[in-house]
Amino acid sequence: MDYDAIIVGSGLAGLVAGAKLAKESKKVLILEQHITSGGYAAGYIRGDYQVDLSLHSMDGLYELDPKIKIFEELDVVFNIEFVKITTGYYRYKNSRVDFNIPDKVEDAISTLSELYPTEKSNLEKFFKTLSDLTEDTHSIPTSKVKQALIGPLVPILYSSIPKWGGKTAGDLLDSIFENEDLKLALAGTLQYYSDDPYKLSAIIFALALSSRFKGGTHYIKGGSVRLSNHLADFIKEKGGDILFNRRVTKILVKGNRAYGVEYENKERENLEPVQVIGKFVIVNAAVPYAINELISDKHARSLKDKVNKLEVGHSTLNIYLCFNKSLKDLGHNSYTTVVNVEGINSLADLEANNKQDYSNRNYIFIDYGQIDSGLTPLGKTTGTICVIDYLENWEGLTEDEYTYKKQEITNIFMNRLDTLIPGVKNYIEYVNISTPLTKKNNTLNPNGTSIGFAQTRSQAGMKRFKVKSSIRNLYFTSAWTFPGGGYSSTILSGWQCVLNVLDEF
Ligand SMILES: Cc1cc2nc3c(=O)[nH]c(=O)nc-3n(C[C@H](O)[C@H](O)[C@H](O)COP(=O)(O)OP(=O)(O)OC[C@H]3O[C@@H](n4cnc5c(N)ncnc54)[C@H](O)[C@@H]3O)c2cc1C
Repeated sequence: MDYDAIIVGSGLAGLVAGAKLAKESKKVLILEQHITSGGYAAGYIRGDYQVDLSLHSMDGLYELDPKIKIFEELDVVFNIEFVKITTGYYRYKNSRVDFNIPDKVEDAISTLSELYPTEKSNLEKFFKTLSDLTEDTHSIPTSKVKQALIGPLVPILYSSIPKWGGKTAGDLLDSIFENEDLKLALAGTLQYYSDDPYKLSAIIFALALSSRFKGGTHYIKGGSVRLSNHLADFIKEKGGDILFNRRVTKILVKGNRAYGVEYENKERENLEPVQVIGKFVIVNAAVPYAINELISDKHARSLKDKVNKLEVGHSTLNIYLCFNKSLKDLGHNSYTTVVNVEGINSLADLEANNKQDYSNRNYIFIDYGQIDSGLTPLGKTTGTICVIDYLENWEGLTEDEYTYKKQEITNIFMNRLDTLIPGVKNYIEYVNISTPLTKKNNTLNPNGTSIGFAQTRSQAGMKRFKVKSSIRNLYFTSAWTFPGGGYSSTILSGWQCVLNVLDEF
C-alpha cells in the first residue's frame, strides 16, 4: 500500500505530525524501531509504580500558548489532565543558600528581593525583560510567523527583537545582576537546555523562563506515556498505521525527491528489508543520524556538509526511584530541587562541574509525590535524579564494567539524596539508572541527547537545522529542528512541519 506520508520515528514530534496528518485524512504510516511509541516521552510500570522516563514539567499552557490550539485539535484537552505544580518553580540549594523560587512573577520578585534587597530593581528589570519577550513573540506579524514555518523560529525572533542577538544566558544574567548566588539560582534549571551558561543562547534561556513564569509548570497526570498513547490512538482511530520494532535503514530518493523508505523488522531479522512508498517522508529520528545513516552519500552530500559542522547537545544521567512512602512525611516539600555542590561560586564554575566525579556533581531531584501525579497509589511516590552527563563516560566499557559503574553511581546518588532528605534511602523499593548510552540505544539519538543540536548562541538561530530539507518531499521534525528542545518545542516542531507538508499537498 502507498502512503501519503511515512514518518520515521514515533517521538512526540513524529506523533503530533502523524496525528495532524491523519486528522486531515492523509494516509499515514509511522515506523518505530523501539517497542513502544513516544521516544523519550514514555515510561514503564514497576509493581505499583508508573515510572516516567522524561517529563519533569511542561512549560506554557497560558492563554496564548500555541500548544493550546494544537491540544484542542488533537483531542488532547479531552483526554489528558495537566496537573499544575503548586510548590513553586523550584527550590535552589547550595552550600550558602537554600530557598524556593515562586512561579509567579510578582511573588518571585518579592521573595527574591527580600533575600537580595540591593537587587530589587534588577529583579524587576529581569522579569520585565522576560515578560516583554513573551509579548514580543506573540506580536510578531503573521507574515513573519509564516516565514518561520519554513525555517527556524529564532532568526525571526532575532530580527524582530534585535536586542537579543548574540548574547548567552550567562551574559544576560551578568548584565543585570551583581550577586552570584542570585544568578546561580536563576540559572538553576539551565541544565535542561545546555551544559554551559556561557554557551546557551540568551533567547532560548529567556523564552524557557518566560513561558514558565507566564503559565507556571505542569505535569501530565499518569505520566508522559499518557500523551504518547493518546496521540498514537488518535492516529490509529483516524486510519493511520503505527508499526513497532521496525527500523528504517534507508530513505529512498530518486532524482532529488524522496519517495519512500526501506525498513527492517527487528522481530524477524532473517527477512529481507521491506520497501514502502509514500508521497512524503518525515524524519522524526535524529537529524545527524538520518543524514549520515539513512540517505545515500550521493543525495546527502550537501546536507552532511552542513549538519556535521553543528555541535550536538549534552546528555543526562537519570536515576529513577520508587519510594514506598510519601516524601512529604519526611519533611520534603518541593517538586523540583536544584542542588549545586560546594565550590560552585559563580556561573563560570558550572561548566567544569559537569566533568567532576559523580559524588561532586550538581543535580536536580524531582519528587512527583508533591502533586497528584497519578503515578502511584496514595502514600507512595516516584522521583528522578537528573545530572548532566556525556556518552564518552559510558562507551567502551565491558558489560561487567558498565554494570558495576551503574551500580556504583546509583549508590553515590542514593547516599547524596539521603543527605538532602534524611532517611529517604530506607524507603526505596525500586531503583533504575539510565545513562547516555541507554538513551542512545533506545532512541538512536547521537550522544544520547534529548535536546538535539547544542543550543549555543550561534546554533540557536540561523544555523539550526531546517524543517524542510534540500531533498524534495523530505522533512525533519524533532528537538533537532526547533529551538528549545523538550516537550513544547517538539510538539510545535511536529505541527510546524505538517503545516508545510499540507501546503505542498
Ligand atoms: C530524562 C529526561 C527528562 C526530560 N525532561 C523534560 C521535561 O521535563 N520537560 C521537557 O519539556 N522536556 C524534557 N525532556 C526532553 C524531551 O523528552 C525531548 O526533547 C522530546 O521528547 C524529544 O522528542 P522528539 O520528537 O525529538 O524525538 P525522540 O524522543 O528523540 O524520538 C525519536 C524517535 O525516533 C525513533 N527512531 C530513531 N531512528 C529510527 C529508525 N531508523 N527507524 C525507526 N524509528 C527510529 C526512536 O526510536 C524514537 O522513538 C527530557 C528528556 C529526558 C531524557
